[in-house]
Amino acid sequence: MSDPDCLFCKIVAGDIPADKVGETEHTVAFRDINPQAPTHVLVIPKVHQPDIGSLAEAEPEAAVALLREARRVADDEGTGSYRLVFNTGADAFQTVFHCHGHVLSGRSLTWPPG
Ligand code: AMP
Ligand code: ZN
Repeated sequence: MSDPDCLFCKIVAGDIPADKVGETEHTVAFRDINPQAPTHVLVIPKVHQPDIGSLAEAEPEAAVALLREARRVADDEGTGSYRLVFNTGADAFQTVFHCHGHVLSGRSLTWPPG
C-alpha cells in the first residue's frame, strides 16, 4: 500500500510538506515544485503504485478517482482547458515511480510534446 522510501508516499502521509490543492478518499493533489505552466498540479493516488496502468489493474476505483480529480483541479485551478500527462517509464522521463498525473493548464500548449 505504501513504500517507506517513496517521496510521494511521504507526501500522502504528511511526512514531507506539499502545497496541496485538494484531497479525496483516493487522491492527493499538490503543486509541482518545478512548474511548467501557470497551473501545474500533480494528482496522485494514496496507494503506492508505480504508474497509471498498474493502478488501473490493482485499484480501478482509485484510477477513476484520479481522472475525476484531475478535471476538478483543471476547472478550479486552471482554465478548464488542460493536458493530463502520465510520464511512464524512464525513457518517457518518469522520475518519481509513484503514479502521478501532471495537470497542466493556464497557457497555450504546443503539440507534439518533446
Ligand atoms: P515525472 O518526471 O513525470 O516523474 O514527474 C515528477 C514531478 O515531481 C516533477 O515534475 C517534479 O518537479 C515533481 N516533484 C518532485 N519532488 C516534488 C515535491 N517534493 N513536491 C512537488 N513536486 C515534486
Ligand atoms: Zn509511493
